[in-house]
Amino acid sequence: MAERIDVVLECDFCETQKKVETHTHTMDGGETIEVESCPKCWKPFREMNTRLRAAGRVVPKPKKKRKSRALAKAS
Ligand SMILES: [Zn+2]
Repeated sequence: MAERIDVVLECDFCETQKKVETHTHTMDGGETIEVESCPKCWKPFREMNTRLRAAGRVVPKPKKKRKSRALAKAS
């Protein structure tokens, strides 16, 4: 028999249950956090994201470390 589970999301900021969605965000330290938020509470973050994208630059992900020839010579 199939079990039906109703999941009610609650805003982590104001505890409303209206139009709450799960958002993920990558922090400066590199960890990705997940937060439930209603549109009202998420608005400042979304606006900040837009501003960051407009003003900032994308940092390329670091590639796998390869043996550097310069480094091998120096040692
Ligand atoms: Zn909220």
